[in-house]
Amino acid sequence: MLTVDRVTVTYDRTPAVRDASLEIADGEVLALLGPSGSGKSTLLRAIAGLESATGAVRWDGDDLAGVPVHRRGFGLVFQDGQLFPHRDVAGNIAFGPRMQGMPAGDRDRRVAELLELVGLAGYERRPVTELSGGEAQRVALARALAPRPRLLLLDEPLSGLDAELRESLALDLVGVLRRAKATTLLVTHDQEEAFTLADRLAVLDDGRIRQSGDVIDVWRAPVDERVARFLGVTAVLPGEVTDGRVSCAFGSAEVPWARVGTVTVGLRPHALRVASTGVPGEVVARARRRDHTRVTVDVSESVPGMSTVDAVATMADAVQPGDEVRLALDPGGMAIVG
Ligand code: ADP
Repeated sequence: MLTVDRVTVTYDRTPAVRDASLEIADGEVLALLGPSGSGKSTLLRAIAGLESATGAVRWDGDDLAGVPVHRRGFGLVFQDGQLFPHRDVAGNIAFGPRMQGMPAGDRDRRVAELLELVGLAGYERRPVTELSGGEAQRVALARALAPRPRLLLLDEPLSGLDAELRESLALDLVGVLRRAKATTLLVTHDQEEAFTLADRLAVLDDGRIRQSGDVIDVWRAPVDERVARFLGVTAVLPGEVTDGRVSCAFGSAEVPWARVGTVTVGLRPHALRVASTGVPGEVVARARRRDHTRVTVDVSESVPGMSTVDAVATMADAVQPGDEVRLALDPGGMAIVG
C-alpha cells in the first residue's frame, strides 16, 4: 500500500503541491485528476523520488525518504513513452528484468508474455522508431511492467495520442491493469480517462487535493462548485431532498445517498435531454458532437433566476436555433454539490 502523508513540493518558494495526502491500496487504480498546472506531475514525481518534498511517502508503512528512484520498485510511464531509441522492442522491455539479473531465457519469456498482455505479440524485433504512437505507448507500458513493479506511475500516458486512439487504448489499458493486478497512480487532466480507468479519484486544484473517494461518489457528490465544474457540471440550481428524492425546477430524481434538506443541484449537459415533455425553452445554439447534439437552451421564461442551460439532443431530433423544445431531467448527469 502506498501512503502519501502531507507532501509539499516547493519551487522557488512557491508551493506546487501543498499538504497532499492520499493512499492507494494494493491492486487499486487511483486517478489524480486536475486542470493543467494543478501540480499532478509534481506530486507523481515526488512519489517516484524525482522531486524533493516535505512530508512522507511510505510503502507498507516504510518511509521511502532515503530510497533512490530506481530502488523504490516503481514503474514509470510518461506521456511520450521515452523508449530507448537504439534498442528494439524486446530490448526495451527486457531492460528492467536484465538489470534485476534475470537469466536470458526467462527474459525472453517475460518479454513475450508482456507483448501478449499489451496486444503486440510478435513485435520483439521491431525497431521502436518504426512504431505508431499507440504502439509505442503499449511498449512503454510493457517495459514499465516487466520488472513487476509494486506501483505503476502513469503520467498522462494517453495524452499524446489522437482522440479515437486514446479512447480505445484507455479501454485496453483497463484490461491490462486488471490482468496485471497493478497498483496504479494515473495522472490525467481528462475526466473521461479517469472514469474509464480508475477505482478512486483524487481531485487536485492549485496544488491541493480538494476531494478524494470512489469514482462514483466523487462524480455524484462533488464537494463544491469549483470541483463540480471541473467534473463537467455547467449549471447549478437549488433543490430539495426528501425521502431519497431530489426535486428541482427541472424535475425530480432518486438520490438515496443524498442528505435530506436544501441542496445545490449540479447539472452536466447530459442531465437535460430534449424530450416530448419537460421544461420549455428556446434553443439559442447548437453544436454537433460525434454521437449527439449539444444545445444551449434559454429557459429564463420557465425557470426563474436561470438564463441558459446546456442540454443534449439526439441527431434525429434535428433541433435548430430558434426552436422551442422541452427538457427532461436525466439523473445520470446530475450531481448534488457540497
Ligand atoms: P500538472 O501536472 O497538473 O499540469 P505540474 O505539476 O506540472 O502541473 O506543475 C504545477 C506547478 O508547478 C505549475 O505552476 C508549474 O509551472 C510549476 N512547476 C512545475 N515544474 C517546475 C519546475 N521544475 N520548476 C519550477 N516550477 C515548476
